[in-house]
Amino acid sequence: MNKSDELKKIHADVVALKDSPLYSYRIENKYLPVIGEGSIDAQIMFVGEAPGRNEAETGRPFCGRSGKVLDSLLASINLKREEVYITSIIKDRPQKNRDPLPEEIALYAPFLDRQIEIIKPKAVVTLGRFAMEYVMRRYGLESELAPISALHGQTFQTSNFKLIPLYHPAAAICNQKLK
Ligand code: URA
Repeated sequence: MNKSDELKKIHADVVALKDSPLYSYRIENKYLPVIGEGSIDAQIMFVGEAPGRNEAETGRPFCGRSGKVLDSLLASINLKREEVYITSIIKDRPQKNRDPLPEEIALYAPFLDRQIEIIKPKAVVTLGRFAMEYVMRRYGLESELAPISALHGQTFQTSNFKLIPLYHPAAAICNQKLK
């Protein structure tokens, strides 16, 4: 299978994820799972937390208020969305944007692992503490874990990619200084 077919397979697998605690919420609200978008050859992958309402209604990651912040930050370093790959650990919207539960992270994170494996980015930029904690534990950086305020903007090397934890763009909506 080529990269694009492998990513389509992830989409199909998530669509069929009836075991998810978020599946019935998706169906009841006619929400879509949000898999990710951008270049399949991206060198940089951004990993957020979970889709919000705008994302679940459109199936597109970071298309609401946080997305506007992310777009402006990308533009400030001359990057376009189409040049990077944008996804989140959780692919379905949690009820009322609550924090993802550990069992939801365990269920959805293997799809993120597959996306990383397929796209092979040189850098993975996590947005927020949930993505940071998952990626650091999964890729051998557990001993470096610390509060996001201490790790924001640092670079870590894994065997396959550089990891750069950043605050979630939503944090900058509440506190401009974090931008
Ligand atoms: N926040 C996220 O973490 N992911 C999205 O797709 C949108 C908002």
